[in-house]
Amino acid sequence: MRWPRPRVPWAARARLLPLAAAAAAAAMAQLRASSSSSATAFDYLVLGGGSGGLASARRAAELGARAAVVEEGRLGGTCVNVGCVPKKVMWNTAVHSEFIHDHMDYGFEISNVKFNWRVIKEKRDAYVKRLNEIYQNNLNKARVETILGHASFTADREPTVEVDGKKYTAPHILIATGGRPLIPSESEIPGASLGISSDGFFELEELPKRSVVVGAGYIAVEIAGIFSALGSKTSLLIRFDKVLRNFDSMVSSNCTQELENNGVDIWKHSQVKSVTKSPSGRLTVMVTSSPDSYKPTFKTIEDVDCLLWAIGRQPNTGGLNFDHVDVKVDGKGHIIVDEFQNTNRKGIYALGDVCGKALLTPVAIAAGRKLAHRLFEGKEDSKLDYTNIPTVVFSHPPIGTVGLTEEEAVAAFGRENVKAYTTSFIPMYYAVTKRKAKCVMKLVCANKEEKVVGLHMQGLGCDEMLQGFAVAVKMGATKADFDRTVAIHPTSSEELVTLR
Ligand SMILES: Cc1cc2nc3c(=O)[nH]c(=O)nc-3n(C[C@H](O)[C@H](O)[C@H](O)COP(=O)(O)OP(=O)(O)OC[C@H]3O[C@@H](n4cnc5c(N)ncnc54)[C@H](O)[C@@H]3O)c2cc1C
Repeated sequence: MRWPRPRVPWAARARLLPLAAAAAAAAMAQLRASSSSSATAFDYLVLGGGSGGLASARRAAELGARAAVVEEGRLGGTCVNVGCVPKKVMWNTAVHSEFIHDHMDYGFEISNVKFNWRVIKEKRDAYVKRLNEIYQNNLNKARVETILGHASFTADREPTVEVDGKKYTAPHILIATGGRPLIPSESEIPGASLGISSDGFFELEELPKRSVVVGAGYIAVEIAGIFSALGSKTSLLIRFDKVLRNFDSMVSSNCTQELENNGVDIWKHSQVKSVTKSPSGRLTVMVTSSPDSYKPTFKTIEDVDCLLWAIGRQPNTGGLNFDHVDVKVDGKGHIIVDEFQNTNRKGIYALGDVCGKALLTPVAIAAGRKLAHRLFEGKEDSKLDYTNIPTVVFSHPPIGTVGLTEEEAVAAFGRENVKAYTTSFIPMYYAVTKRKAKCVMKLVCANKEEKVVGLHMQGLGCDEMLQGFAVAVKMGATKADFDRTVAIHPTSSEELVTLR
């Protein structure tokens, strides 16, 4: 049996203080409140109940701080409501659709297969609702106060936040307000508002028969893949010739090819010019394509049921009234922080998507927890190491990647000091199927000792394969360490320890 680790939390320690010190602390709290026009005072006030905010507030409370979370939407933020979680449910759904094609090849007789979008949407929504409730229960259990409403800073002398006319303050205020999808303005692209964003994807009541996805990042790739696998005729409009252009070039090229193999009609060097709606409610998307910038061609995509913009995200900083606290943001509105998540204003911190760096749930969670340990456990050096963050794209097949791309490694170490080991093969799963999908893998090694500084792959199972390899890369494994590891046969992952 494991016993809980004995701990003397922050507040408990405060209770053990001599009476005089406790009285002084109470007086200070009162002074803080009065200096902010009778604001309710906490030890830690967290703006945004998403991945980063919730994790940080709960960890702070575990460490004894009196914490509160302000949330204007649904608890869980982007990831739980309109991101990772419902997206993964839809990806799993799409994987079923792919595998149905292989069932006959594996000897199963299947007839009359029909897909009903509403069935999975209902189940998905119910699951998300359960998660919202679990998050609320977890906050209650941790004694973190939930304040529902929109938070914005006031003009008070001490940093103070107003929600629905009530004021709140704390010596430590965390901004974890995340981001939201970008949709072009009507002046940029007439008719743009007829399209939806990834948020709207999760509201669709039916699978669109004809869809157009605009964008080349991972959200565009994932949604186009889901639409197409489930049977929507899908076009993907990209500005250049490949998707995922900030990934390793091998992955970027292979993913572009796989999308096309899976029936996604990719319009390269293309941009939307305008969108119109017919009386039947269907859209016509006017597109300019210019592989040769001197000769743009104009084409239309007709009878579109769903136009989806996946062209990037913007930080939720707009309504926070930063002019009252003078928190600095960059040209795109992302909050500028140092490596400890400090903003320029003492006592105000920021993390997660609102800072615009490594927009991933586990990054926001880890940064939030590290910050709580620094503020409420006295661990002065507690901060997130942003190097070698593994990430998966739920494409078809999935992509797993960690560390530097080959291009980044060459820029960092010089061409002569970088060696890339690659392989490309058809996984054994497809030995008996008509449908085939390649698996590509690359190890990027640097310097004489061949330290593995990057690992990139796309293929069946690469999503679940990555986490363990990411540990090895984080620990500084070399190619020789990989080679020394005995392979697991027959798997695709064995290829990574037998590369030559
Ligand atoms: C379609 C999609 C798929 C994704 N898939 C993945 C994935 O597979 N894996 C992964 O790791 N990441 C994924 N992400 C990214 C992930 O969701 C985000 O990186 C993560 O949610 C960021 O957490 P956060 O705490 O910074 O912000 P959020 O989770 O966005 O939380 C911010 C919260 O702040 C609230 N808020 C904003 N302003 C205010 C205000 N003024 N007052 C009160 N509340 C406010 C918002 O309502 C929101 O709940 C995906 C994102 C999208 C859009």
